[in-house]
Amino acid sequence: MDFQNSFDHFVFDLDGVIYSGEKAIGDSPQVLKILRKNKKGIRFITNNPSRSPSDYAEKLSKLGIESHDGEFVTSPMATVSLIKEKMPSEKWKTVFIAGSNYLKSEVRKTGLVELYGEDSLGADLVVVGSHPGFNLEEIRIASIAIGNGAVFIGTNGDYFYPCEHGRAPATGALLASVEAASGKKAMTAGKPQRYMFDLLEKSGVTPTKKTLLVGDSLRIDIAGGGKAGYSTALVLSGVTKKTDLGSNEITPDFVLEDISFLLEPRQGTGNK
Ligand SMILES: [Mg+2]
Repeated sequence: MDFQNSFDHFVFDLDGVIYSGEKAIGDSPQVLKILRKNKKGIRFITNNPSRSPSDYAEKLSKLGIESHDGEFVTSPMATVSLIKEKMPSEKWKTVFIAGSNYLKSEVRKTGLVELYGEDSLGADLVVVGSHPGFNLEEIRIASIAIGNGAVFIGTNGDYFYPCEHGRAPATGALLASVEAASGKKAMTAGKPQRYMFDLLEKSGVTPTKKTLLVGDSLRIDIAGGGKAGYSTALVLSGVTKKTDLGSNEITPDFVLEDISFLLEPRQGTGNK
């Protein structure tokens, strides 16, 4: 059977699947073009909290990939879902945010008042998401506020993402610094938690085996997608290497070299 036609929707992680740094992986532009031509539903889900959907659409367009703002689900959106779910019972009013302008504008949608500088030490909530300006002062404020009783939320728990030169730190690595200083663990909102998958469902992607989630992380993408009820394909073009597979209890439905598998006549290596 034609592998591609076994699915109605394709949900792609970005880093390590569509691109690495500023370079497209495999034939990702061609794959996306063909899926669109065949009228498949397409979504992009990324835990990277530093960019907005329109930023991502611009980045993809430079790689020759068409996309629309409504096709993206990001970890800042998931963070908003998590906060809104807990707010009625928690009575949070104020927040300290160590993150990108995009994360800040998303979190402000919850109605929380953002605090700055020394005022932040008394915030009800601390939200941390990777951004290029992350610094010691943010670790200091976050750790003291958490010590004073603030609830600690991280946008996502990824430790690193692949770049041209090796491993670059992601939010999980930054959370670890605040966790070490404060002695408290963060709760996270991104994949593999359910919030991003709930948002996908709201956007019209039903959680069935007719949706294929393609990701490069067993712990983040495959664990989350499998739990949500999708078919899952692990690609070995990002954080997971072949040698990681045997020792892991998280099992994808398919294991493939990279996204170009969707162009091949006989695609997919069943892993079950
Ligand atoms: Mg990835």
